[in-house]
Amino acid sequence: MIRTPEVKNEIFNNVYEFLSSFPGEIEFVKSVNQFYKSDFEKVGLTDFYESYYLNKPIEVLYSSPGEEPIFSNLHSPHMRDFLKLTKIYRERIGIDDKSIVIILTEINAVREYENWNWDMNFGILTTKISGDFIEFKEVHYKLSLAHELTSMILRIKMKLRPRHSFHKKPCGCINDYLFGIKDLPIKLRTADICDECCDIIDREKISDKLITHILDILDGIRTQLLFRMKFNRRIQAVSISVNENNKILLPTLGNLEIKLTPLFKTLFIFYLNHTEGISFSDLAKYKDELNKLYRKLNKRIPDKEIGLTIDMVLNKDTDFFSINKSRLNSAITKQLGEPLASFYKISGKPREAFKINVPKELITIHTNTLSAFRNQV
Ligand SMILES: [Zn+2]
Repeated sequence: MIRTPEVKNEIFNNVYEFLSSFPGEIEFVKSVNQFYKSDFEKVGLTDFYESYYLNKPIEVLYSSPGEEPIFSNLHSPHMRDFLKLTKIYRERIGIDDKSIVIILTEINAVREYENWNWDMNFGILTTKISGDFIEFKEVHYKLSLAHELTSMILRIKMKLRPRHSFHKKPCGCINDYLFGIKDLPIKLRTADICDECCDIIDREKISDKLITHILDILDGIRTQLLFRMKFNRRIQAVSISVNENNKILLPTLGNLEIKLTPLFKTLFIFYLNHTEGISFSDLAKYKDELNKLYRKLNKRIPDKEIGLTIDMVLNKDTDFFSINKSRLNSAITKQLGEPLASFYKISGKPREAFKINVPKELITIHTNTLSAFRNQV
């Protein structure tokens, strides 16, 4: 996965991290770099780059009264230009021909279907939010991009030609064409492959493992979307895991992520690992664990600040701990809704032990994160 410079890193990361939270046959790899100016120059898009990215005024070649002006450098990239960009990228990073390169871009490439050899491992994912989509919430945006990218991998593997890659008549298949914003929630909930597509999958000998992985991801998207649409219905605790990248996920809800600031996350994971409960007065005994955990979860700030912040948490003369505990709890409520949130909040009366009430058997913490704790290796 690589992005063109205008695509926000946050969007790129969100989609990547969501996709890679599902284990399976496909290994998602995120490019550290984007395309450079020199890449655009190499494929003959210097003018485009300058007018698009550097806001260089467009030169008017010809204009007469009452007629549309003709511009010299209003050259919009074609699909083949993207293909050339991909080639440069493959060579630079050393990516083999079998790996699929998917470009995330806001640039509206000119689609050309004639003389187009589509038997290649390459795809363009348009991230631009058009008029219709603006009212759409951020989460739907991430899920829809993830859905599109996943089904795109399948279409590439199926060797579908662009003009015939979608079903014009919707049949509940992941390859249905999206007609407008009103169809998007339906499309996102689709995790089926129709008979016609199944035949192609057989013919192209696409492995079951790959199909299973794709369906797992699409299923995750559907589950997460349904959960968000019905927000409050879950009254049972669900399993919670902290993965190797220290992300807090609810696997049965389509890997729904609980997003927290590093300090909140530190407190949350700390209590998640101490289901026996720990009172505020005993918390100082775990200073070392808190320091290590906070260090692990907040790589950006210097050691000195890590220590100072944890000292503030443990300071009995201030309300720092209880204020942050309340804020953490409201962040969880906001993301999960009640009653589900009640299982994951740090609860307890002052002077008694505080604890998270999710049953211990539903908690999985990756060894990478656990290494911050005293009794773990
Ligand atoms: Zn189909």
